[in-house]
Order: sequence, then C-alpha cells, then structure tokens
Amino acid sequence: MQYTSTRDKSLHMTAAQAIAQGLSPEGGLLVPENFPHLSAEDLESLKRVSYPERAARVMGLFLDDFSEEELKDFSDQAYSRFDTPTVTPLRILNGDTFCLELWHGPTCAFKDMALQMLPLLLTASLLKNGEERKAFVLAATSGDTGKAALEGFRDVDRTKILAFYPRNGVSKIQKLQMVTQEGNNVGVCAVDGNFDDAQTGVKRLFTDPEIAARLDEEGFFLTSANSINWGRVLPQIVYYVSAYCQLRKAGAMPPDGHMNVCVPTGNFGNILAAYYAKKIGVPIGKLICASNSNNVLTDFIKTGTYDRNRTFYQTISPSMDILVSSNLERLLFDLSGGDDALVAGYMDQLARDGKYTVTDEIAARIQDQFEAGFCDENMTRLTINSMWWDVNYLIDPHTAVAFQVLGRYRDRTGDDSPAVVVSTASPYKFCGSVLEALGASGVANGGAELIGKLQDLTKVPAPAPLADLADREVRFTGCVEPDEMAGPVLEMLS
Ligand SMILES: *Cc1c(COP(=O)(O)O)cnc(C)c1O
Repeated sequence: MQYTSTRDKSLHMTAAQAIAQGLSPEGGLLVPENFPHLSAEDLESLKRVSYPERAARVMGLFLDDFSEEELKDFSDQAYSRFDTPTVTPLRILNGDTFCLELWHGPTCAFKDMALQMLPLLLTASLLKNGEERKAFVLAATSGDTGKAALEGFRDVDRTKILAFYPRNGVSKIQKLQMVTQEGNNVGVCAVDGNFDDAQTGVKRLFTDPEIAARLDEEGFFLTSANSINWGRVLPQIVYYVSAYCQLRKAGAMPPDGHMNVCVPTGNFGNILAAYYAKKIGVPIGKLICASNSNNVLTDFIKTGTYDRNRTFYQTISPSMDILVSSNLERLLFDLSGGDDALVAGYMDQLARDGKYTVTDEIAARIQDQFEAGFCDENMTRLTINSMWWDVNYLIDPHTAVAFQVLGRYRDRTGDDSPAVVVSTASPYKFCGSVLEALGASGVANGGAELIGKLQDLTKVPAPAPLADLADREVRFTGCVEPDEMAGPVLEMLS
C-alpha cells in the first residue's frame, strides 16, 4: 500500500517511509492512498481473538511491507505493559452507554495505545528503508503525549527523544511524570508559552537548516512522535474495531446494529481514528466530537469555518486545550476526494489569517457524519461529581467532557443508539481537578500527595505507575522561550 501527502499527491512512498518520515517535506500529512475494507466475516473473526491479535491484523491491512509475525510480535510487546489482559476494558454503564477505558498502559493516558507501538514501528521502518542514521524524536506535548512518548522510546536503540511541554499548560502530576523520566536517551524541557506555541516551535525546528546540518553531522535525522505521524493514528484505529468486537461479545448490539462514538478531542487525532475505523467498515453511526471551552472544532463542524482567532482557555482538561487541530487536515483531504491543492490552500489560509472556510459540499459531508458539542469548566466538574455520586464511576475531566456532550446530543436528537464514550485518562492523572469536582477543599494547587487523598475518598485504587511518583528523582528542570527551542536539541546532540 502506498502513502501520499495531503498537500502533494505526486508523492508516493511505502508505509515504512511514511512512518520514518512523520511529516511530508512540504508540510502535508501522510495518508494511505487506498483504504482496506473489513467485511462482516472479518469483524466476526476479529471478535474471537485477543487485543494484540486484533491490532496485528488491523494494522496489517495498512502495512503490507511488514510481515504478520513482525506485527504480532510488536503488538504482543506493545500491549504487554497494560494492567489488564483485555487492554481496553469496556465499562457497561447502562443498557446503551459504554465507556472504553484507554488508560490502562504505563503512563495512564490513552496516548500509550499508540506510543507503546510507534517506537517498534519506527525502528523497524528504519531497518526496512536501509536507513543508516539514527532517529531524533521531537515531541510537543499538551501533557500526556510527552510522557507516553518518553516511556515508549526510553532506551530504544538508535533513538533519542526530546519532549517540550507548555510551562503552565500541564497538571502537576503530568509535569512530575515527565521531569522524573528515566532512560539514557531522553530529554524534557518546558516552553514559556501554551501548547500551540510548543507545537509551532517543533514544526519550525523541522525546517531549520542549522538543526538539520548538526543532526546530520551526528548521524541523526529528525522525526516526530506527535499525532501527525501515521504510526500514531494507525494503532488508534484498532481500538474502535475492538470496541465494536467487545460490544458484540457483551451481547450489547445485534449483528446488524451500529454504535455511536463520543470522543474527547483537541488535535482531532482520536476522532480521526474513529472516522477511519468507520471508513474501513466498523458499524459506527455518528462520530460525536467533544471539546472543552476551546471549542474551535465545535464551531467548525457546525459552520464549516475553522477560526483559531479566539480566546485561548486553560482548562481542567488541558490535553484538549488546542486551537490548531493538526489532524483535521487528513479529514479534509479525505472528504475533498483527495484534493491536495484545496487542502494546501486551506492550510495556507490558516497559517496566514488563522482561518478558512470549507466548500459547502465538504461542510455537508462533515455534518452528515459528525456531531459536535463542547462542555465548559463548570459542567465538566458537575459531570465528574454526578458520575461518581450517582453512578459510582470515577472519571477524569476529559472523559467528563465527552459524557456531558453525549448526554446533550441524546437530549437534542433522541438518538438512543448504543454509544461508546472514549475515556482517555485515569482520573488519578488529574487528581486535583477530580477531588475539587467531588467537593474536596484546599486541593487546587496540590501535587502527587493528592493521589492518596483521592484513593482515601473513593476507595478506587490508583494505577501502579502513579502511586510512587512523589518519591522519584527530578531529572529535568530547563525552560526556554518558544523561539529558543533549538538550544535543547543542540545540547542533546553534543
Ligand atoms: C491527547 C489527549 C486527548 C486529545 O486527543 P487528540 O489526539 O487531540 O484527539 C484527550 N484526552 C486526553 C487525556 C489526552 O491525553
């Protein structure tokens, strides 16, 4: 299967090349030129196998330059560090509401689903491409990516990884997870700005000739662990296939039924994976896009105008505090029938004016498949509170955003199809906000000590990787301005 760029369809490359490269040279994102299809029989047979086997089979459809054994081996490794054999447990809340918990991996957020896999795909891709150089992985993080990428690449041969995080844009626990990261090939640095500043800074490093020259001297090339890498999107498609299998196995849906999915998203990565799952044949009805107060995607889906010129809010669901949703570009490419010039034009307008409006035809296609809503801070807290006290289910703020948006979608439309809410983080990762929402006082500025407090209050056990966080050694204390991000890269090279 060949891959191409959303901004230049004359480019053709293998999956291994697309994964090694991350981003296309002209700034476009890499996408498959064709999509496979899962038949009803394929889905039936996927229902019968384990999560790692599902992952190997689904990824195999897109990675024909990888062998079955190779992918099975990667899946077994990647999902061996999860704390439950089902990998993505499906919590049944009532007859038609389900919660897919994607945070049972080593860093307690859904990013592990892809970032435990990406390093294996990437290093294998380098070998396949005959690449002699080593990979220097750069990640901009809104909190969870950085830690998951660091943990995924830690001590992986022929790689180095550097994660940038917005100084005031991550929770104390997220920060502590990163600055205590172990491993000999890792670096972590704060940026004095928000997530978009960090992400824009990383994109700039990719086109910086001085950096390129220095990397080359040291035998490295630059690649990305952000959700723009195809090797990140692909493992995310798997859990939507799996959610369907799990629903069917639970007897919660007839063979010809469909499920809606409600996804808390910011960069549009997670919900794009759901869109692709639907495209390859998973019976998904509505794709419900849930945002926090940074509701740029809600407005876009409703109006067809993407406009990032608006107030940026720091919320209690910081991993969705994003005004430039990078992965949306892949959706536009798909829904425009692969119109690279059109997509390139939109992205130019976005870079120049901060906004663009898609054609009526594309807007109609989006509205046909997507629904959107957003949830402000108060409603997020209220939802955490009522889910705990009414249903006895402890959820984090990102997941709460999705529950709230699903509830309002159902009230508005009466659509009571089975719905899967995607749960993207352990509530323990955002202890302070969760405790506050449950009515605890004096916790707003707390750190890792709140883990014990939440555990005492709820008797829900904290995940093992968070339980001993406070005792770990802090290894990284640096902070740079957005236009000084080359510094830490050069430092790690010398
Ligand atoms: C990254 C993240 C999201 C948003 O994911 P997208 O890639 O923007 O779709 C939501 N919740 C949590 C906890 C995250 O870490």
